[in-house]
Amino acid sequence: MSDDRTNKTFVLKGVGVSPGIAIGRCYRFDPLDSQVSFYKLNDASLIPEEVLRFKKALKESEQQLLEIQKNLKKEKVTEPVYIIDVHILILKDKIFINRTISYIRNQGVNAEWALRMTLDHYKQIFEGVKDAYISSRVSDVQYVVQRVLRNLSGEQKEVTWEVGDDGVIIVSRDLSPADTAQMKLDKIFGFATDSGGRTSHTAIVARSLELPAVVGLDDITRFVHTGDEIIVDGTSGLVVINPYSDMLRRYEEKKRHYDAAKDEYLKYGKLPAVTLDDYHVGIGCNIEFVEEIPSAIVHGAENIGLYRTEFLYIYREDLPTEEDHFNNYRQVVTEKNLSWSTIRTFDLGGDKFPNYQKQSKELNPQMGMRAIRFCLKEVEIFKTQLRAIWRVSALGKTKILFPMISSVDEIREAKKLLEETRQELIEEGVAIAPEIEIGVMIEVPAAVVIADKLAREVDFFSIGTNDLIQYSLAIDRANERLTFMYEPLHPAVLRLIKNVVDMAHKANIHVAMCGEMAGDPLCVLILLGMELDELSMNHLAIPRIKKIIRESTLKESKLLLKKAFSFNTASEVRACVHDYMIKRFPDEFKIEED
Ligand code: PEP
Ligand code: MG
Repeated sequence: MSDDRTNKTFVLKGVGVSPGIAIGRCYRFDPLDSQVSFYKLNDASLIPEEVLRFKKALKESEQQLLEIQKNLKKEKVTEPVYIIDVHILILKDKIFINRTISYIRNQGVNAEWALRMTLDHYKQIFEGVKDAYISSRVSDVQYVVQRVLRNLSGEQKEVTWEVGDDGVIIVSRDLSPADTAQMKLDKIFGFATDSGGRTSHTAIVARSLELPAVVGLDDITRFVHTGDEIIVDGTSGLVVINPYSDMLRRYEEKKRHYDAAKDEYLKYGKLPAVTLDDYHVGIGCNIEFVEEIPSAIVHGAENIGLYRTEFLYIYREDLPTEEDHFNNYRQVVTEKNLSWSTIRTFDLGGDKFPNYQKQSKELNPQMGMRAIRFCLKEVEIFKTQLRAIWRVSALGKTKILFPMISSVDEIREAKKLLEETRQELIEEGVAIAPEIEIGVMIEVPAAVVIADKLAREVDFFSIGTNDLIQYSLAIDRANERLTFMYEPLHPAVLRLIKNVVDMAHKANIHVAMCGEMAGDPLCVLILLGMELDELSMNHLAIPRIKKIIRESTLKESKLLLKKAFSFNTASEVRACVHDYMIKRFPDEFKIEED
């Protein structure tokens, strides 16, 4: 059977959130697929058996629907009964069945994969229909496919997610941390999603895995089909679908250029981040998986400035035990090449939810029961983590960081619980460090305003610009429609940061930045000019940031900052900083300018 896809070239513009270029075949990921295996049949002799498996799943689906229908009729519910009739008709539809079988036969894919291609085909047809009601009926096909897929998988809870041996580029509406957790990451070259912004978790995960990613593409899922050739240019935020041969060649060239530049930067990773006039900036790394530590060290991290621990909760059905925490953190703090590890207590809620709590019922979860608020309410869950942090403090230098602090009361309450766990462990005779440095994330505008008061309570600050920008500019960090307004160089944001640094230094405490702004090469002189003590970022960004710092002076950074402060608008500040950086570091910004 012939393939229905047109090979038209499309270029879509989104937000490049993880640099690099990925070239490969698209795989349309849909949460529908998340518990399903996709694989090629190695041997043609497996085909008849696969067809039978498909037919059996159809039969089972039909029987289940008839059963549901029977029960509904008993309860005298009429409306869904008719819809189920439609679903049964789809299940028995010869074209639907034959199309799927011919995908199995002609393309040698398993029934699940074939079904997925059939669904894509129907989606394409329905989306072409002008009548909104009719076009929305594709959801009926989708429900049917979902049921058949479930039956094919034998309704097993844990089914591996496989896409064959070749590797793919994932295209999806969005990817939750739980979605990416189910993927075989070594088979993935890049990501492209309809929604998300620079600091959405899809973006953060992509950066930490060094996979090129473009998010905020609006409706890429409407344009591509599994198997299409696609290019994801995470540096410039472009996605090309079905590139023509010249374009493909140019991108292959660009990819080589990017990969070479990356390797060349690596040597800067080994060097300290010291300006030409001898100002030293500490360089930390943000991680969310212990597996990232070797790469952090290779790229030149001096410490772990932010360990996001919420992923420990997200990848499982139950709560992690104290031993789970301990065994995990132990691997971080005992790394000899790092001066210290900053463990941030869990920041669940917002856009991160554990599996057992799939979605928040809150209207506005970013401003809801998240991070420290949740911890101070669910004290036992919190104390389990605090005990584990104390225990690893005996094994290597550990700092503790509390997220989303907005008042002195909250930090005092958190410290009280930390002290309680310390006493408990001492009484139990468990080894712990004599003391632990305590820090707060400065990511809520209220914390900036009372930074002088917070500084008296803690040993260090870490500025979380991802949330600080979100809350101060009232821009949802994951909303791709507002990306253009999400501006780290907004005069208000710069003033907030400056205030935090000044307050910290006045109180003689260390001040770091761990938001994404810290790893943005365009912003590095501005941050230097503010005299931040430490910048903590994704490991890939470290060599380039170090190189820029090493080639600049504190004096020029202060002058640039002064100039930036003289403007009234974010666009003026951006233009000024952009022009300066391009002139001053032409080689560093060459790739973006190409
Ligand atoms: C931040 O808000 O800047 C931050 C580093 O924390 P997260 O991105 O995990 O919210
Ligand atoms: Mg935050």
